Amino acid sequence: MLTERIWSGNSLRNFHYLIACPETGQALAVDPLEWRLCLDAARDRGWEITQIVNTHEHQDHTGGNAGLKAATGARVLAHAGAAARIGGVDQGLNKGDIIRVGRSVELECLDTPGHTMTHVCLLAHGDDAAIFSGDTLFNAGAGNCYNGGDPQALYDTFVSQLAQLPDATRVYAGHEYLTRNLEFTLDREPDNADAAALLAQTRRHAAADAPLTTLALEKRINTFFRLQTPQVIARLRVSFPELAAQPDPRTVFIKLRELRNRW
Ligand SMILES: [Zn+2]
Ligand SMILES: [Zn+2]
Repeated sequence: MLTERIWSGNSLRNFHYLIACPETGQALAVDPLEWRLCLDAARDRGWEITQIVNTHEHQDHTGGNAGLKAATGARVLAHAGAAARIGGVDQGLNKGDIIRVGRSVELECLDTPGHTMTHVCLLAHGDDAAIFSGDTLFNAGAGNCYNGGDPQALYDTFVSQLAQLPDATRVYAGHEYLTRNLEFTLDREPDNADAAALLAQTRRHAAADAPLTTLALEKRINTFFRLQTPQVIARLRVSFPELAAQPDPRTVFIKLRELRNRW
C-alpha cells in the first residue's frame, strides 16, 4: 500500500490522502476537497484515481467530489446513511465492507459515529496498519460534535473501536490540528513528557510536514484516551467542581469534549 498525504494549505487545515496499489497504480482519494492538488499528486506519481471516499458528509470533505469525478471518472463512496445528503454517491458503505484498490490494497470500513452520526473510518490491516480517521480521531485529539454529532456516541467509538486497534496503527486524520491539540493535552496534564516532546518537534515543522502518530503514541498524548489519568481528572475538577472525585470514563470524556469546545 502506498500512502500520500496531501496538505491543502487552506484555512480549515484539511489533509487529503491518496492510497494506491503499487502493482497497478490505481488510487483512492480520501476527502479530496482541494481536488486539483490530489490530481496533480497522482499524475506526478503515475497513479490513476479510480475511487473517492468521503469519511462523512461535511462540505469540507465532500466539496471536491464533483471536480475530481469529472476529471477522472472516479466512483464516489460514502456512508450509506450520508449518501443522500452528499449526492452523487455511487456506492453506500456499511460497517465491515471491504474496499479494494487495485490488486493489492484492502481497506475495511468502520462505522464510527460521534463527529457526525454517519461517519466512516478506513482501516488497513497488517504491515501497513493505518486508519484514515476523518474528523473522528485527530492526532492528539477528538472531533467536535456540534455539527450533527453526539459526544456519547463519540465516546463509544473511542472505547469500543479506536482504543482496540493495534499499537502500530498509523493515524491519518482529516485535519492538521496537532499543535493546538497537544497544547490542550498539556493544559490537562502539564507533566505529560511525551506530549511536551512531540509539541517541541511539531513546532519545528511546517503543517505539511507535521509528524505522524501511531495508536501507541496516541494513548500517551491524546487526552481523549487518558480518561483515568489522575492529573487529567484533578485538572478537570478545577473546571467542573461538581465532578465526582472518581468519575467514570464516559463522564470524563464528555466533560473533556465540552471543555475543548470553548478552550
Ligand atoms: Zn467534519
Ligand atoms: Zn472536517
